[in-house]
Order: sequence, then structure tokens, then C-alpha cells
Amino acid sequence: MQLDFDLSGPALQSRVLDIHQRLCVEYGCPIRYFSELDSLSELVSALLSHRTKNRDSHRAFLQLRSQFETWEAVRDADPAAVEAAIAPCTWPEQKAPRLQAILRELTRRLGEPLSLDFLADLSVVEARAWLEEIPGIGPKTSAAVLSFSTLRRPALAVDSHHHRVAQRLGLIPKTLAVGPAHAVLAAQLPPHWDAQQVYDNHEILMLHGQRVCHYRKPSCDRCCLLDLCPSGQYREQAS
Ligand code: SF4
Repeated sequence: MQLDFDLSGPALQSRVLDIHQRLCVEYGCPIRYFSELDSLSELVSALLSHRTKNRDSHRAFLQLRSQFETWEAVRDADPAAVEAAIAPCTWPEQKAPRLQAILRELTRRLGEPLSLDFLADLSVVEARAWLEEIPGIGPKTSAAVLSFSTLRRPALAVDSHHHRVAQRLGLIPKTLAVGPAHAVLAAQLPPHWDAQQVYDNHEILMLHGQRVCHYRKPSCDRCCLLDLCPSGQYREQAS
């Protein structure tokens, strides 16, 4: 079945903006920031949230905070105590030593007291590169630190919902994994967009994946993007 979509150059950029504007109307941009965490706390939160429901990773984060006064104390604690504190999240036995190793590496690089606030003085590209040099920190975590924390920088995060919707819309190839998709999707956004606009882009694509473009059965018949979506049109024509 031949579908007529130009997925390159200016046509792609125009579709990205169309998609953004329609989803902004649907979900009400600007989207309120959900986090008021400082950048280091956001890093810890992001590490705990990997493949974990929000409710469970939030519980793990709160328990960790209540049981240790500082992130330095988490770094120096008995690993078993950290593991017990973050038990509500998935794989606490892996996440506890990884979190402590990252805190030790930050100490080696930055000294004490631990803080990532200096990232505000770097460009987004430099800040992401600095973070991603640390083993255990990938593009999703670096984007979360910069975008979701009180740093409020224009760094695009891509979660599994966002990634799936972008694939179906033809914004990225079906074979492109979520890690490398960060750079491709970020490059499609207008370079002058501010932090709120970049944050909105992530949030609305994620919300659309959660509420309409479901993993198993996307509700293409009630999707405001159907005429812009190769996958949705293919499904409609095939049904
Ligand atoms: S048309 Fe269907 S596949 Fe495309 S974005 Fe909408 S729900 Fe997803």
C-alpha cells in the first residue's frame, strides 16, 4: 500500500510543528512542570525511575530522602541500607550500587558539597555530554536532569511512549532505539525554542502515547493526528 508522506527536510519540520500544535491544543500547553527538584536530586530520581511506575519510584525516592540526610550520606552508606530504602522501585539490588557509584564519580569530579548546579553555565549540548560521560547516565537521564529539574533547560527527554508515537508518526525510523532517538528528535525542533516549549513537546507526545496511541491498540479513529500519520492511515486502510 503506497502512502504519500514526505518524511525529509522542510516537509518533516513542518509536520513536526503541525503535530506539536495539534497536541498542544489537545493537552493544553504550556504543560505544568511536575518537578521542583534541584538537579542532583532529579538525577537520583531519574535513576530510580528507570523501568519503574512513577508511583513506585516516587515512593523509593521519598524513602531514600527520609532515611539519609544528604546525597553524600547515601554515597557512603552500607549498600544494603540504600537497597532497602529504594525497595519500592524495580531492581533495587542493581540500582543501589549504581547510584552510589555515580555519586562517588561525581565526588571525584566535583568535590564536596555535591551539586550539579554548575550545569546551568554550560550549553545544553555540553551539559549533556558531561553527564553522559559518567557510566550509568544515558540520554534520557541527562535530559531529565536538565529539563525536569529547577535548571529548566531546553533538553528533550524521550520516554517509551514518546518514542513509540514518534516511530508511528514516521519522525524516526522503526529501528532507531530510544537512546539515539533523543538526538534525532531534538534536532527536529526549532533551535530557538525555549525550555517550556521543548518540555511541552516531550510531555504532549508522552501523554498522547498514554491516552490514545497505546502500545497494543492505538485508537487511530479518535486521533487528532490521523491525517499526519503513516502508521495510522495504514491501519485505517487495512481495517
Ligand atoms: S493515528 Fe494512530 S498510530 Fe498514528 S499517532 Fe494517532 S493513534 Fe498513533
